[in-house]
Amino acid sequence: MTIDMDKIVTKTVCEAKKVAKKASETANEAIVYTKNQIDRAAIRDQINEYYKKLGKLYYSEYSGSVSASEIRACKEKLDELFIALKATDNGAPAIGCKVCGFCNAKNKLDNVYCAKCGEKL
Ligand SMILES: [Zn+2]
Repeated sequence: MTIDMDKIVTKTVCEAKKVAKKASETANEAIVYTKNQIDRAAIRDQINEYYKKLGKLYYSEYSGSVSASEIRACKEKLDELFIALKATDNGAPAIGCKVCGFCNAKNKLDNVYCAKCGEKL
């Protein structure tokens, strides 16, 4: 009986490839999961920020210095953020983005300033 070295080598390489592929898949899953957690945390931070803003707006409304459109804009932003948060429930990274009101550039959700023109988002 002869030992077919080629066959053994091919089989070993094939097994090694499978292991490497599996490891790479697992790593990718971990990256997607981490990205999801970061995105969700960023969205929650923004929600907290807008709740604070909304609270201040309501408080200032007593003095008559706040326009109804400012409050509406804040509420709309909160609705938008809750939708973005819901979209990440399945574990996927947030696909949403912040569109700059000045230059219309798409920015990452956690950007505070526009990456293109520097306008506050
Ligand atoms: Zn911009």
